[in-house]
Amino acid sequence: MEKRDVVIIGTGPAGLTAALYTARANLKPLVLEGHEPGGQLTLTTEVENFPGFPDGVMGPELIGNIKKQAQKFGAEYRSTKVTDANLKKRPFIVTCEDGTTIEAKTIIISTGASAKFLGLKNEKELTGRGVSTCATCDGFFYRDKIVHVVGGGDTAMEDSNFISKFAKKVYVVHRKDTLRASKPMIERAKKNPKIEFIWDTEVTEIEHNASAGVTGIIVKNVKTGKTEQRQTDGLFYAIGHTPNTSFLKGQIELNEHGFIKTRAPHPDTNVEGVFACGDVQDSYYRQAITAAGSGCQAGMRAERFLEEHGH
Ligand code: NDP
Repeated sequence: MEKRDVVIIGTGPAGLTAALYTARANLKPLVLEGHEPGGQLTLTTEVENFPGFPDGVMGPELIGNIKKQAQKFGAEYRSTKVTDANLKKRPFIVTCEDGTTIEAKTIIISTGASAKFLGLKNEKELTGRGVSTCATCDGFFYRDKIVHVVGGGDTAMEDSNFISKFAKKVYVVHRKDTLRASKPMIERAKKNPKIEFIWDTEVTEIEHNASAGVTGIIVKNVKTGKTEQRQTDGLFYAIGHTPNTSFLKGQIELNEHGFIKTRAPHPDTNVEGVFACGDVQDSYYRQAITAAGSGCQAGMRAERFLEEHGH
């Protein structure tokens, strides 16, 4: 069986920064990239709040650069998804989707979080045919079209603004009459003449046909119970994310929402030798810079753990 000192699962800014630190410590980390290499930053356009880039930087470029930087010091990348991890005893065993297993002295988990769906009939089948969870990936396809965005957080505001660059009209459908998004984001969306808000409303059904994909939605006012049919070409979900921890069930302590519990201020989990960083253990800050910071901590803790255990 392949033996490794450090296995890193996930390649967002957290995992890649952990790779950079452990590679620089000469630990030759193996980074298992999963099905969404680069994580959420690869689905975004310009990042304006990552320190060191006064003119902003494109998400994929930032990820590509951290990846190269870690590779320069010896990080190795492998395109595979982890399906199982045995963390009951050391060395740990990681199983990949192709059935191969890797023995690891330490593991850094940085699998991030995935977009949530509403749970409506046909929504998964219609993904890519009118339903989307990624405005920056798909907004371009809605030039001069009508789009509905579901959610009331920063993502909904940001997505609506982005899509409005292409679409002729963007409706934000929110289940309350107040937004949880930050003030500047709300102001920007409210000032945008192409964006209109539909308050206290839930989407209950998606209408579609074989040739066009999504053609409309049925919405319901949660206060009055009144339903309405609305024509739309696109339905974008911006309703939050679920941590990617299903492969860890029963192996590691998770909170009630499935995020990994770490021992703040350290990235240590309840399993000695397993560390977690980035969005998979952070449902509050969820920023590229906080993910990278926690990745640095996880890398350093893994290095010290190996040192303490006679590496
Ligand atoms: P949030 O969890 O902040 O917001 C999710 C929104 O979706 C809420 O308004 C919520 O409604 C709504 N929602 C959740 N589930 C459902 C459902 N089943 N049906 C209808 N509506 C639903 O997620 P975001 O992705 O917006 O943001 C996550 C984090 O990332 C935040 O901390 C945010 O600040 C940050 N972020 C920052 C950005 C930036 O600074 N540039 C850009 C994007 C995100 P309700 O309000 O009723 O709970």
